[in-house]
Amino acid sequence: MAKKIFSCIACGKRPLTKNEIGINKKLLGMKSKNFYCIECLANFLEVEPQDILDKIEDFKNDGCKLFE
Ligand SMILES: [Zn+2]
Repeated sequence: MAKKIFSCIACGKRPLTKNEIGINKKLLGMKSKNFYCIECLANFLEVEPQDILDKIEDFKNDGCKLFE
């Protein structure tokens, strides 16, 4: 399977990391095709970037395969 390069739909930052894509799927839904970088996702959800990073850590600690 070819590895697709995703870029942030808001600021165009690329490539997005596996963790960034993972948290988008978790927070916006598995079917979402629009991905944000951490900063834009935080903006979109009106939270702090650190809150997003904390969530990624939480999911990682749960052993979620979407994260590394
Ligand atoms: Zn962005």
